Amino acid sequence: MSDSEKTKRMRVIRDEVLNLTVSPLYEYRTKNKYYPVIGEGNHDASIMFIGEAPGKNEAEQAKPFCGASGRVLDKLLASIELDRKAVYVANIVKDRPPENRDPSADEIALYGPFLDRQIEIIEPQVIATLGRFSMAYIFSKYNIPFTAIGKAHGSAYNVQASHGPLNIVPLYHPATALYDGSMMSTLEEDFKKLLAFK
Ligand code: URA
Repeated sequence: MSDSEKTKRMRVIRDEVLNLTVSPLYEYRTKNKYYPVIGEGNHDASIMFIGEAPGKNEAEQAKPFCGASGRVLDKLLASIELDRKAVYVANIVKDRPPENRDPSADEIALYGPFLDRQIEIIEPQVIATLGRFSMAYIFSKYNIPFTAIGKAHGSAYNVQASHGPLNIVPLYHPATALYDGSMMSTLEEDFKKLLAFK
């Protein structure tokens, strides 16, 4: 797919999400003058990171991982000398859930197909999931048996995607290091798994 075709398809997704009045998060978005957060990065990235849902900063700036969790993500990317501009970063749920609550199953079911289309556009070699919600979504999408994140983190699962071979690397959410500083070394260790795919 040409770069202009990829950009065109991403814009179609953006416009559909902008007008997603059926979303339980639509009213909260408009009332607070928030934006949906579609995704950001290189449309030809070999590595795609998938988080959960935007927080306040993200919904104000329409950019994924631009707040406190984003600073942790940037540090982790720097630890393996991976340029954020080289990767693509998205979330499953594109609108901010009130008070940063966990996304609901209905919200994940509603927004998931937009993420599926983004994966088809990017055609990544690696999907690195950030946190248990995106891990559960991607595991289920590619028929990987459910595994607790405490066991699965830092492993690579090889599957066949419609665009070719795909490695799924489940990672803890960067926010875990904000609540528990000792998690940073685990995250750094797990991020090294991505070095093989840079
Ligand atoms: N947490 C996420 O899961 N995604 C973001 O974009 C920001 C914080």
